[in-house]
Amino acid sequence: MTKAVKIEVISLGDELVRGDVLDTNSAQISLAIETLGLAVWRHSVVGDRVSDIAWLLRSAVGRSREIICTGGLGPTLDDCTVDAVGRAFQLPAQEDPQALGQVARRYAAMGRELDPSGRRQARLPRGAGLLPNPGGTAPGFTLRRGAARLWFLPGVPREMQAMLELHVLPGLRANYELTPPLVVTLHCIGMSESVVQERMRVLSSPGLRIGYRAVLPEIQVRFAFEPGAEKEHVASLVERARSLLGRAVFAVEHSDGPKGDSTIAAVVGRTLLEKGQTVACAESCTAGRVAAAITSVPGSSGWFTEGAVVYSNQAKSRACGVPGRLFVEHGAVSEAVATTLAQAIRRRAGTDWGISTTGIAGPTGGTPEKPVGTVYVAVAGPGGTTSRLLRLPGDREMVMALATGSVLDLLRRRLEQA
Ligand code: AMP
Ligand code: MG
Repeated sequence: MTKAVKIEVISLGDELVRGDVLDTNSAQISLAIETLGLAVWRHSVVGDRVSDIAWLLRSAVGRSREIICTGGLGPTLDDCTVDAVGRAFQLPAQEDPQALGQVARRYAAMGRELDPSGRRQARLPRGAGLLPNPGGTAPGFTLRRGAARLWFLPGVPREMQAMLELHVLPGLRANYELTPPLVVTLHCIGMSESVVQERMRVLSSPGLRIGYRAVLPEIQVRFAFEPGAEKEHVASLVERARSLLGRAVFAVEHSDGPKGDSTIAAVVGRTLLEKGQTVACAESCTAGRVAAAITSVPGSSGWFTEGAVVYSNQAKSRACGVPGRLFVEHGAVSEAVATTLAQAIRRRAGTDWGISTTGIAGPTGGTPEKPVGTVYVAVAGPGGTTSRLLRLPGDREMVMALATGSVLDLLRRRLEQA
């Protein structure tokens, strides 16, 4: 029923149509709207021209009930959303005293003088309702035209997201009788997206939408159940999905359950904390990304002590005591070097676990036996050392991201066994 509410998203900005900046706002808005049990039916992107924006806004009010626009509210002359609204609906811009107060306070807090261009941000179309911006200078606004309601938010993604949650989502909840779908997200690692999709095929059924998202280094599978789906049905389907995906699943989230950090680094961190154990890393091809991933989790000083970036062979020998003959006999990208690094950093740091990476991120440096994407990861800990040879796809950034995820995943699997 509520699916029938037609909601569209309009992104404004020359940089978006040119391709300099990726339009992530539309995607974020659609995802947020879906959690309410509503759906966005249309996205459009338009450059910073008053006449083009006015035309798009006029056509939008004829076809959608809710129109969410982002961008073009800043202080510079290319920010022309207010003027475009004026042109579209014959609503001249006026300085709003409340908006001016907010803009002035923001400038004062930043220690900046409110110049005429900054002051432009306090202009609103006549009759518009002010939407305060808690994290930036440009306020947003909302207005009604016939049966349609329009929302205007700043383009800066962080500010947009905050104002979406503060103003738009509550506004939609208040206006429609909503029954949010239950969304269950399975976080998987160590399995390619195509294999994940293949395994999920047998689960397809009416009333169930399955979506896939690659968020390096993981693949997320999202099951959206119709409102009112039976608890037992949901539980048995999730159980079947888990058994089809096996140990690749490292976290499961329910949209009506507790919200937490479900990255592989966070899951590993929580497990280490529960066990009262610690980890250190020695990284070659990931060059600090493993340490960065681990420490991006708040509280990581509780389980992480140190990381060494040992990029050259000399550094591997000096910092981790890798014997020179290993490079001659096996090469720097080898199981022998990976396991030695993991054991050495564990010893040096005095931690329960030592983890390591060594590989060829490319685009150069590959050989026929060790092509670009060849990576060894190793985990040393109570019960011995485990290593894994990976043949990773993608460019340099992707190989590094997948290698980082893989070594954390190998540690996760060891922790599950221990
Ligand atoms: P604006 O509010 O138009 O001044 O936009 C401020 C900045 O936010 C721009 O320079 C962009 O980098 C960014 N931005 C604007 N619109 C979007 C969008 N749809 N998706 C992602 N970033 C955006
Ligand atoms: Mg702009």
